[in-house]
Amino acid sequence: MSYELQCHRCGACCRHPGEVRLEPAEIARIASFLGLSEPSFIEEHLRLRQDRRGLALKERPDHSCIFLEGNACVIQPVKPGQCLEFPNRWVNLLWGKVPLEAMRRDYPMLFGCATFQDFLVKEASPDPAPKE
Ligand code: SF4
Ligand code: SF4
Repeated sequence: MSYELQCHRCGACCRHPGEVRLEPAEIARIASFLGLSEPSFIEEHLRLRQDRRGLALKERPDHSCIFLEGNACVIQPVKPGQCLEFPNRWVNLLWGKVPLEAMRRDYPMLFGCATFQDFLVKEASPDPAPKE
């Protein structure tokens, strides 16, 4: 079974501490969307990843992404694949395969996600009684 949760645009994942990694094609796409040259985009908006093997988006001092305005992503049409894949990639990898407590411990970002919280409530609820 494959799950496809619809994002509620709560912005919680964009405020979670961590790294949004960018591949070269994503750098080119986002720079073009913003009307910047790739070197300018890299200089202004990216930093070295913690493993020093590539680049990631800069974040604000409170750990929110620099492209988050209110609860909206200002690069929504071209946002990175890592953002597009959340939370469905993780739900499909983990749900029913990893104990809930292990998920809670190892993937705390999932538990701050509004659509995943709805999913949890729905999955934990018994089926509605059949209509008479
Ligand atoms: S790029 Fe957009 S979707 Fe991704 S973390 Fe930043 S604000 Fe959120
Ligand atoms: S935390 Fe979940 S519901 Fe909220 S913006 Fe991110 S993916 Fe969407």
